[in-house]
Amino acid sequence: MNDQGKLIVITGPSGVGKGTIVKFLLTNNPQIFVSISATTRSPRHGEVDGVNYYFLSRQKFQQMIEDGELLEWAEYAGNYYGTPKKPVIEGIQPGKTILLEIEVLGARQIQKNFPSATRILILPPSFDELETRLRGRGNDNQEAIVKRLAKAKEEIDVKDEFDYQIVNDHLQKAVNQVETIIFS
Ligand code: ADP
Ligand code: 5GP
Repeated sequence: MNDQGKLIVITGPSGVGKGTIVKFLLTNNPQIFVSISATTRSPRHGEVDGVNYYFLSRQKFQQMIEDGELLEWAEYAGNYYGTPKKPVIEGIQPGKTILLEIEVLGARQIQKNFPSATRILILPPSFDELETRLRGRGNDNQEAIVKRLAKAKEEIDVKDEFDYQIVNDHLQKAVNQVETIIFS
């Protein structure tokens, strides 16, 4: 695979602040592009198809898996999520920096499918703080929060697999640390 640009993977448990960090990175650095994932999850209020995600049926998602159109994919809290391969490859080849914001199982697949990628794990300052953030965000019902917290324990357990680990305690500090890694 020709990889002249950079593939940066931001991963970590749900609620840790990945989306918030990525939003700041994109605002500060218009030369960075984020990959739009496919998912079978229903859109949340305000989410737009083709902007936040490609919202697909399970059947369509399965078809993409079978056709080899995903760079990685995972089932997460009862839904499928995956990175469409083509836009990433077409962006990387002319030298763009492409960012993936994905959960940990997908980030592990990237290590196999795209070994030159830089994989950054975002960690919470504590498990209690992660729960506070997840509840404070107000996106998920109790059942989804319990699933996400159980998943978070597994995700934090494999932290040593990643190239970099950043604790998102102070947001600006975490953003600065990610920028330093991307531009180093
Ligand atoms: P993720 O994308 O990892 O699921 P989000 O970016 O949606 O997480 O963040 C979850 C919640 O935590 C949001 O309400 C966000 O405003 C808040 N948050 C993010 N970073 C911090 C931080 N450093 N300190 C306190 N709250 C934070
Ligand atoms: P949410 O439902 O909160 O939007 O996302 C749930 C989890 O799925 C988050 O941890 C998010 O980073 C992850 N995710 C989003 N897109 C992808 C993707 O393309 N692949 C994988 N593996 N995970 C993703």
